[in-house]
Amino acid sequence: MIRHLHHLSWTQIRDLPKSEGVVILPVGAIEQHGPHLPIWTDTLLATEVLDHTLAALPDEVAAWALPPVTYGKSNEHTGFAGTFSLSASTLLATLHDIAKGVAASGFRRLAFLNGHGGNMAVLDAAARDIRVETGLMTFCLHPHLYVEPPFPISDNERRLGFHAGELETSLVLALKPELVDMRQAPTHFAQFPPSAPPLFFFGMASAAWLSRDWSSTGVFGDATLGSADKGQQIIAAAVPRLGNLIADISRFEIPA
Ligand SMILES: [Zn+2]
Repeated sequence: MIRHLHHLSWTQIRDLPKSEGVVILPVGAIEQHGPHLPIWTDTLLATEVLDHTLAALPDEVAAWALPPVTYGKSNEHTGFAGTFSLSASTLLATLHDIAKGVAASGFRRLAFLNGHGGNMAVLDAAARDIRVETGLMTFCLHPHLYVEPPFPISDNERRLGFHAGELETSLVLALKPELVDMRQAPTHFAQFPPSAPPLFFFGMASAAWLSRDWSSTGVFGDATLGSADKGQQIIAAAVPRLGNLIADISRFEIPA
């Protein structure tokens, strides 16, 4: 079964059964990921994990992937070479334009597969606006889905290892080891002020932090603990989790 929409012709897409089914749009980022990982990391991970998941989906699940939106909203990494960010308004407009094509092609459901934490607020806003504007049923799948480790990690890594640390390093080592330079892999846990942790841990309040304020290498976490074996374990755990969600979304209906 062909699951990449861009491998099909327009007539094939016109004739797909669309009562059930979801179009999945990966949204990545091109941004610094420390001195050891490629700036492509977030787009790479989202598209590769999606490809593994689509390959494992049973044929009765109707799901098709679009080519990714390669760039994301990455201005929290401003000041590091190799960060190429879209503004929120550009990303919103891009998502709206692609969604209009999804609706005009006759599909009923659109899911964003997000590869980058900095995209979350924009994707959630876009999903609701697109729902109102086009009538598409819209969904967001965020990176927690596929970076959740099935093995123990340190408390520091769990709380503070959110960028280019043990987990992302492991995933790139599993998928594109030739792009990783482990000799450059840093260990860095940000020293957030003792009074301020709730502001940095995605809780009830938040700080608009910039990476450069808290990490000279751009890394948050212990990248030296990355390994291809851990990356394979993360992918093996993520594929059924993401696959089940895609199957549920593909059949999701809003009550009449
Ligand atoms: Zn990343």
